Parts: sequence; structure tokens; C-alpha cells
Amino acid sequence: MPKKIIFKRDVFNSILSYCKMHHPYEGILLLRGSNKKDILIIESLIVPPFSWHGAAESGFPSWMLPFDMSIVGSAHSHPSHNASPSLTDLHNFTGFVSVIVRYPYEDNDLFAYDADGKQLEYTVQN
Ligand SMILES: [Zn+2]
Repeated sequence: MPKKIIFKRDVFNSILSYCKMHHPYEGILLLRGSNKKDILIIESLIVPPFSWHGAAESGFPSWMLPFDMSIVGSAHSHPSHNASPSLTDLHNFTGFVSVIVRYPYEDNDLFAYDADGKQLEYTVQN
């Protein structure tokens, strides 16, 4: 598990605008990056194939995912003020980190969690 998470500034901004675009529905993205010496750097995003957007939970069939070792996690939005991971979220954990963005999707509405649902610290790098 990474001890430190770094988002590239443009990736961080793209996650927020993707979530805004899908409101009031959930949006979901895959995160690509590198994980070296406990530092996870999130460098780019993928829109998952065959993703769907519902008011409750968004998702995608995991067997549809490309076999890509650089996928380090996923991000999705909660169109509410609650950014806690749901049981479904923890069940569908991919990679090292699960990012949840709550409404209204501003800079301080993005939260990162590990597979146990424990909140992880992160920084945004220009
Ligand atoms: Zn969720």
C-alpha cells in the first residue's frame, strides 16, 4: 500500500471536471500512474469501457478492463455531500487507491482511500 499519493495538477483538475460533467449522475474513471517506493503518482486517466452512469452506483464489468499494469486505482463521484466509500465501493476496489469526489466537486471534495476504506493523505503537484 502506498504511503504517499501525488496527483499531477492537470489530472486532479480533470477528475473534478469529469465529475461535474456527469452530475447528478456518478462518473467513474480509472487512474494510471506509477507506484515506486511507497509513493503513488497519478499521471493520467482512462474512461473505462462500457461504464454506466446511474444515480446510485456507477461501475463497469471488471472483465472488460484492459490488462494494464499501470492502472493504479479508480475514481468516482458521489453526487451527494457524503464522500465515504460504500460497501459496493470497497467490494469493487481496483489497484492501490479508490478516489471519491463528492458534490460540488471542488478542490477539497476529493478523498482517497485504501482497500480497507481508510482515508489516505495526498498532495497535488504542479
Ligand atoms: Zn461510491
